Amino acid sequence: MVFALNLPAPARAEWFKSEQAVMGTSIAVQLWHTDADFADACIAAVMSEMHRIDAAMSPYKESSELSKVNREAARFPVAASKELFDLIARSLEMSERSGGAFDITYASVGRMYDYRARKKPGNAEIETALKAVNYHHIKLDRARGTIRFTHPGVYIDLGGIAKGHAVDRGISLLRERGIRHALVSAGGDSRILGDRRGRPWFTGIKDPRNPQRAPVVLPLSDTAISTSGDYERYFIEDGVRYHHIINPGTGRSARAARSVTVLGPDATTTDALSTTLFVLGPEKALKLADTMPEIDAIIIDSNGTMHYSSGLEPPAKQ
Ligand code: AMP
Ligand code: MG
Repeated sequence: MVFALNLPAPARAEWFKSEQAVMGTSIAVQLWHTDADFADACIAAVMSEMHRIDAAMSPYKESSELSKVNREAARFPVAASKELFDLIARSLEMSERSGGAFDITYASVGRMYDYRARKKPGNAEIETALKAVNYHHIKLDRARGTIRFTHPGVYIDLGGIAKGHAVDRGISLLRERGIRHALVSAGGDSRILGDRRGRPWFTGIKDPRNPQRAPVVLPLSDTAISTSGDYERYFIEDGVRYHHIINPGTGRSARAARSVTVLGPDATTTDALSTTLFVLGPEKALKLADTMPEIDAIIIDSNGTMHYSSGLEPPAKQ
């Protein structure tokens, strides 16, 4: 006799994935778990966190907290959430460390570019707006939790650090829920929790002039990785590439590199650093990276030559 046993289906451990467009980029979450409903709930929690951060920090949304700061902080100190305050404080630390290469006030001039519409400011406009580009124009009052600008033209944008912050928040949420194997990415910023169950993740570094190709592939686990590239948002006019990473000293696209990839413990750091090292150019960038023990960097310079920080240097040929 054959019995049809009505047993529950065995738990099947597997990878769950989801991708959504948020913050003007593609957000991807992958995680490993035995319970599909729980995995789905975890992914939904990460996605809703991404929407929350976008709603607070988007410079394009009138209703965001960042937009309120941009509208008011030149007139009076504006009270900010701890999250926004802390992220601006971290941005200022990166400005100090890089001699101003990373500077969220870059947007005082950066906002005049529109890469999709192939629009750029003229020389006179750049000269005027540049007076507002200086991170010293931002004053934080930690005791009161307020932000103030000391120049009327200041406009800030967290595009060089907020995606990394969002990725770190996503990983924290997954960790709190007991997830041990996951990948969260927002465009060029990713963080890996654990490994791929006994194997590493493989992440490619794109060829900046042929981004479908990835000539370098890195095996990774438990790390954050960010890439800044001049092929992400740009237009070309008269043979000149106008792209979204701005040298705060000139108000024009940074020219010494084509891409910078940074590896480190958290995505807020690797995001801000990839933008910073891009602006600094290979020589200064590697000098700065080598002062940071947990950081590695791979730079593709303006000629297409690769440079590695000392932690990644390939062994000398025998
Ligand atoms: P990423 O792709 O992480 O390098 O970030 C590029 C974004 O950072 C740009 O789209 C801008 O929003 C912002 N950004 C551009 N130049 C700078 C700069 N010099 N300092 C800080 N943020 C910048
Ligand atoms: Mg970055």
